[in-house]
Amino acid sequence: MSDLGTRLQRTECILEISRELTTTVALGPLLAKIVDTAAELTDCEEASILLRDVRTGELRFRTATGQGAEQLADIPVPIEGSIAGAVLTSREPMVIYDAQADPRHFGGVGQQVGTETRSLVAVPLQIKDQCIGVLEVLNKREDASFSSEDVDMLMTLAAQAAVAIENARLVGSLRKAYQRLGELDKLKSDFISIASHELRTPLSLILLYAAVLRDDLDEAAGAQLDAVLRAATRLKHIIETMLNLRYLETGQMDLTPVRFDLAAEVRAACDDYDALAETGGVMLRADLPTDALYVYADQEKVRVVLGNLLSNAVKFTPAGGWVRISLCERPDEVEISVVDTGLGIPKADLRRIFDRFYQVEDHMTRQQGGMGLGLSIVRGLVELHGGAVCAESVPGRGSRFIVRLPLRTAASDVAPSKMSPFLA
Ligand code: ADP
Repeated sequence: MSDLGTRLQRTECILEISRELTTTVALGPLLAKIVDTAAELTDCEEASILLRDVRTGELRFRTATGQGAEQLADIPVPIEGSIAGAVLTSREPMVIYDAQADPRHFGGVGQQVGTETRSLVAVPLQIKDQCIGVLEVLNKREDASFSSEDVDMLMTLAAQAAVAIENARLVGSLRKAYQRLGELDKLKSDFISIASHELRTPLSLILLYAAVLRDDLDEAAGAQLDAVLRAATRLKHIIETMLNLRYLETGQMDLTPVRFDLAAEVRAACDDYDALAETGGVMLRADLPTDALYVYADQEKVRVVLGNLLSNAVKFTPAGGWVRISLCERPDEVEISVVDTGLGIPKADLRRIFDRFYQVEDHMTRQQGGMGLGLSIVRGLVELHGGAVCAESVPGRGSRFIVRLPLRTAASDVAPSKMSPFLA
């Protein structure tokens, strides 16, 4: 082949490897292709890539041409006392014509695989400022000389191999981190599940007996028991929240839709938070239609949605502010809007507040309690109904949460998988 033809062939091969480098994540086949190309284009009998093993401090064959590749993988090459080691340390390419006469030559490999090295070129594999290994070609056919183009081309191939190895390492560590995150997430979910189930039964007993005892106590002791009851009720709410999250996550949450008056439900929810609002100096108002607004939904779950939104609005509104909940009926949906004049939510946090355990302020330093689960449960329950929830906010001025629930009239409108057996 003419000089020009050879150059063109080399450029095409390198381009092809570059293309594969950007499209493939499989390191093995790509490195195999690199060594095959290196041997072919330099007209050598063999080629290989050796990588430094950080644990043992030796070089190991990662890929090689020919039959002996597997056997080579088991042979360690010392860094002190081998030509590959010298290239790794100096980070300079080396061209050797009589390897057997070179004192740095490591004969161990040839003895074990039965090949004799005559000539070789070895070039370093570099990632940023680190040398991670060596690309070698052995035994130029007809014992011809290596050209400077041979060396340049090997340097280019070595750079491509280094990028491929770096990519594979990054993908590997990302995979590991992802797997670890998955394990941690499962651990957290399992913990939530076990803790909430185990706590539920003893807590129900405490609540039951405390309520029975309450009737027989005088005023002073009764007030103390009221404190116990309040704390136990709060614990019950936390456990229910964790269980709701668990059921939503595992798809175990079923809807039991019934026909009920949403306006009356909102009024009842406001009554529940009136005392809390008053204690915090917040005015809580409901703008509701005078007539009943019937919806076909899971009443218990809608109650949780309303409670979580109102509780947040009151909790994050300082004294002197107000919270307003309103309903708007449309032809095919009903909109629940909860507006407050509270702290507001920074724009960067707005899209994350529906994530589980997400809290704008650090949990340990913030003044308001909570676990960062309320809104993720709101979203889960609303979506289970086929609805949607969103939030708008101006930091320092307040927030608005909007829930849209589709208006349903019959059990047949609810997704069959979510229908309770009682309605099916
Ligand atoms: P938490 O139990 O912390 O209230 P949520 O999931 O209900 O958990 O809310 C997540 C976070 O969103 C809250 O910690 C708070 O930072 C922010 N947030 C929710 N509602 C409001 C609101 N009405 N005003 C300001 N911030 C809010």
